[in-house]
Amino acid sequence: MPDILSAPLVVEFPFTRSLGPVQSAFLTGLRERTVLGVRTGDGKVLVPPVEYDPVTAEEIRDLVEVAATGTVTTWAWNPHPRRDQPLDTPFAWVLVRLDGADTALLHVLDAPGPEAVRTGMRVRVRWAGARTGAITDIACFEPYEGEADGSAPAPHAGEFADPVTGIVTPARLDYTYSPGRAQSAYLEALAGRRVVGERCPSCRKVYVPPRGACPTCGVATAEQVEVGPRGTVTTFCVVNIKAKNLDIEVPYVYAHIALDGADLALHARIGGIPYDQVRMGLRVEPVWAEGSRHPDHYRPSGEPDADYDAYKELV
Ligand SMILES: [Zn+2]
Repeated sequence: MPDILSAPLVVEFPFTRSLGPVQSAFLTGLRERTVLGVRTGDGKVLVPPVEYDPVTAEEIRDLVEVAATGTVTTWAWNPHPRRDQPLDTPFAWVLVRLDGADTALLHVLDAPGPEAVRTGMRVRVRWAGARTGAITDIACFEPYEGEADGSAPAPHAGEFADPVTGIVTPARLDYTYSPGRAQSAYLEALAGRRVVGERCPSCRKVYVPPRGACPTCGVATAEQVEVGPRGTVTTFCVVNIKAKNLDIEVPYVYAHIALDGADLALHARIGGIPYDQVRMGLRVEPVWAEGSRHPDHYRPSGEPDADYDAYKELV
């Protein structure tokens, strides 16, 4: 029985989106300390605003200005803020229905402890000192003693100088990954530059990498089978978009490779051949980088191409 591996994993990428007229007005408004919503066909005011009526799917452009004060409709206490959360001291996640709005906005409330938070409590926006046209222009909400004045939200043209037209949202997941018995054995074998899959006792397919069970038969797999190291390109794509923080020149080829003896293709980069000469059936072998636990890429092995019939079940 191998050691069960465990490692910290971080999946992180910047998500860039352009803003339509409604989101642009909403975020630019926050920069100018103005909270905008939209009025739907049936007269409801939605904050944060959406571009299409959730009931009729009609496009909506009818902007209104709501108050920077509101009421907590529900909340949850966060005792341990994580990096990049809005506050670095314990805080409450809150849904706040701003005065004049019919829906609630998700944000955070700066409060000394959970005993200071309740549904129905009055709060107001604490604006960030430096504002860029983002939801974080609202630094947080804070307790507020005043009542709503009950006035209807006023129409707003949504027009500002130098409107925000796009945002970059960093997405990040950090977690501890434990690959389990089957993948731990697979990774241990890779450390010795061997590729080991597992055979299903029922249908006899060899899974690489193994997941510990056959997804077709629903039975556990245990018999270990060494496959490769050579394999056949079953299909591929040419990558033309350069990924941030990835030190590979484009264009390059990413391929599905059926290692010899495997009944499932894995995917890897193809090197050592011009990208426009890669083809289905190309025979390849792994190239290991010094100290790496997995092949850096695969390159042509020099063998004749495989017949389509030899790998057609794996495409
Ligand atoms: Zn099976």
